[in-house]
Amino acid sequence: MTKSAQAVWDNCLSFIKDNITPQAYKTWFAPIKVVKLTDAALSIQVPSKFFYEWLEEHYVQLLKVALNKELGETAKLVYVIKMENTYGNNQPFTEKIPSANRSTLKSQHVDAPLKNKNPELKNPFVIPGIRNLQIESQLNPNYNFDNFLEGDSNRLARSAGMAVANKPGGTSFNPLLVFGGVGLGKTHLAHAIGVQIKDKYPDKTVLYISAEKFTQQYIESVKKNNRNDFIHFYQVIDILIVDDIQLLSGKAGTQDVFFHIFNHLHQNGKQVILTSDKAPVDMQDIEQRLLSRFKWGLSAELQHPEFETRISIIKHKLYQDGVEMPEEIVEFLANNIKTNIRELEGAIISLIAHSSFNKKEITLDLAKKIVDNYVKHTKREVSIDYIQKIVSDYFQMDVDTLQSKTRKRHIVQARQLAMFFAKKLTKASLASIGSQIGQRDHATVLHACKTVDNLASTDKQFRKYVEDLNKKLTV
Ligand code: ADP
Ligand code: MG
Repeated sequence: MTKSAQAVWDNCLSFIKDNITPQAYKTWFAPIKVVKLTDAALSIQVPSKFFYEWLEEHYVQLLKVALNKELGETAKLVYVIKMENTYGNNQPFTEKIPSANRSTLKSQHVDAPLKNKNPELKNPFVIPGIRNLQIESQLNPNYNFDNFLEGDSNRLARSAGMAVANKPGGTSFNPLLVFGGVGLGKTHLAHAIGVQIKDKYPDKTVLYISAEKFTQQYIESVKKNNRNDFIHFYQVIDILIVDDIQLLSGKAGTQDVFFHIFNHLHQNGKQVILTSDKAPVDMQDIEQRLLSRFKWGLSAELQHPEFETRISIIKHKLYQDGVEMPEEIVEFLANNIKTNIRELEGAIISLIAHSSFNKKEITLDLAKKIVDNYVKHTKREVSIDYIQKIVSDYFQMDVDTLQSKTRKRHIVQARQLAMFFAKKLTKASLASIGSQIGQRDHATVLHACKTVDNLASTDKQFRKYVEDLNKKLTV
């Protein structure tokens, strides 16, 4: 009587399950599919080469024992690597026929010989030295629901976030897209959802990542030729949180890969949480198919906090820091910083710092000075889009021209000035500036900054451009 492949594998699995942690089982064994059993050779299908290497590195003994128990001493294991849902792969199914008459359990696979005894794990989130896969969630425990104060401005987003946290993948809010202006709590809320899920479902794999970092990792994976491992890594995550998704704008490759990951997760009932500084309708240079996916679930806006919420946020912050402040100052702050909670916090911190360094009481006067600084300071915070607009207007061209590939001198100069001011006036990285100003790389931006510096000190006309633009951009 011959056993079926499925029955053999099921028995192996129940043995394996008893010997490893549930998390490891879920990550490494649940995705395996059994393919066939020929004589004593069991073929199993794994999703990637990375997967195969990991099994070989960590579980070969366990597999061996399990198989020997089922199929005797002549048992063989054959890996079949099937990359699912990966793009550009027209031959998704590859198989190696086992060589005949092997008497010991020996694994075989498609294209990587077993020479690599200790395959280097490229994955940045895998904690090295730990046997079972553990993905660092990258969550900040200080951003939780308890200290995310509720108000009219955030009620919808906050409750949707709670609902998702209590039942990830199980609500119609998938994806949950939280959008709103700078400093209104998107990142905080995104972390809070993750933190609560981790708390409630410790076995779930949660990952928080900024879209910027995601992009860097993707580019890196393309360079190192392990794009499939990159995709696979993201496909095993249960709850994926991507912050500042608007940064994918204009990055076709990254959008494409994200599209595939998104589909895979969504189809498998995994939760996706996204944040953006714009509503989906206002996102530019994001592929339509991706935008339409963003709208599948719920888009919830974080609005400017109303007065009461500003007051409670200030008081909460003071309470946390163990500081007392007269009511009139609290109100003064709440009345003067309205559109950005990060600035509100910043003003409180500098107020506390000033008063304690100078051993002065916190007075309304001091508060006024600080808020002045703050408000002036924040006016200077401009966006790269705005800089491009101002520079283009100044040179009487449109933004498309400024971004175009042309080498015409006056256009190149305008572009370089835009890059220079983007570097000077925003916190964006060189790479991010480059990609927003006509898809250039970071070296080009660096070169532009140097050129502007040089020209400004040698060319009078050019110095005037810099001064004029500086005035326009910083008043
Ligand atoms: P964004 O990602 O939208 O730019 P953040 O999440 O970084 O904004 O929030 C800016 C700051 O404001 C953070 O320190 C955050 O803790 C605080 N904050 C935002 N919303 C709230 C809120 N509802 N209650 C308490 N603190 C908040
Ligand atoms: Mg943020």
